Amino acid sequence: MGSNVAPPYTNMAHFEDTLIYAHNLFRTHSVLWKRLIDDIFCVWKGEFASLETFFHFLKTSWPGLDSTMTHHSNQISFLDTLVMKDDHGNLSTDLYSKPTDRNSLLHYDSFHPRNMIKSIPKSQTHRVNKIVSDPLLKQQRTIEIKSKIQDRGYPPQVLNTIQQTTSREVNSVGHQIPFVHQYHPAAYRIHRSICQHWHILRTSYPTIEEFKNPFLPCFQKAHNIRDTLVRADIGPSRAPPTQCFLRSPTKGYISLSKLNVLKGDIIYHPDTGKRYNIDNFFTCDSNFVVYLIKCSCGLLYVGETTQVIKDRISKHKSTIRCKNLLLPIPHHFISKGHNVAQLRFQIIEQVTPPCRGGDRIGILKHREAFWIHKLKTL
Ligand SMILES: [Zn+2]
Repeated sequence: MGSNVAPPYTNMAHFEDTLIYAHNLFRTHSVLWKRLIDDIFCVWKGEFASLETFFHFLKTSWPGLDSTMTHHSNQISFLDTLVMKDDHGNLSTDLYSKPTDRNSLLHYDSFHPRNMIKSIPKSQTHRVNKIVSDPLLKQQRTIEIKSKIQDRGYPPQVLNTIQQTTSREVNSVGHQIPFVHQYHPAAYRIHRSICQHWHILRTSYPTIEEFKNPFLPCFQKAHNIRDTLVRADIGPSRAPPTQCFLRSPTKGYISLSKLNVLKGDIIYHPDTGKRYNIDNFFTCDSNFVVYLIKCSCGLLYVGETTQVIKDRISKHKSTIRCKNLLLPIPHHFISKGHNVAQLRFQIIEQVTPPCRGGDRIGILKHREAFWIHKLKTL
């Protein structure tokens, strides 16, 4: 198979979902089903005839799919692992290599990066420790791997890492507490310091199993420039909003219902006499807006809402009718003897969705604070 594994991977997943998992024979006999891209390892419980029938179904149900099956009652290979079953039904694992495989480990004198070459003895030993389950067999396989590595020109001091890896992995059997943090140049000094004082935990809490093993230092991915950068806004500009008016809309609030709206494209401050321009148009269905409520005595209130403005104003009116004195607007209206009909409002600004994403509600709150400060409504 080539490097591009996406098409076979997608096909196999679809194949499993639609045909295999629902098949009656699969549900009755399959004990284990594991797949790596297009290699499948399956443990089948039952007669061989049922397995053959199922395999025949796989071959015929997907035209163009070419598959082969290897089966055995006592041992079977999957990738580089050989799974064996003894007379009592216990499973054990060993390394598996094809009879045609040769010693193809990277040669020590190869021009590959040195780190890659130096990691080979360690990774090969790790592979033996992870795959081979029997301790005696593990020793034998370690010797074989050592000889293979030696044949590829690795010097003795590099081979010593094999011994170190093996002993470290054998000793670290059991759970270790991971110490996860981001990389810092001082990290290794901190690790050393924790190691030096780890015995305090071990002796103070002898019953806690986790303290018997040394802790496991782990680095997590740090925040990088890529996380901070955003996509450049250099594409074609957005399509203009659909025109829903017969003529160009005038700026300010376009009222379509009998709401107590202050019309016009000017915000007039009754105390300072200043005027502020409104450079957009709004309707009763505008949302994510900063709005202004003006009462007959000239007091101003600035608020924001993510709701449609007509719903928000209805709620304000409702709180006045219910005489909810805990809120500032009904409290003012009730205490000054105003009625709901005297409430006037105006939309100052709308926050449109940021074109490169972002916190729209945050921007809205920021704009509300801006207008509260500007109109001195606090
Ligand atoms: Zn008032």
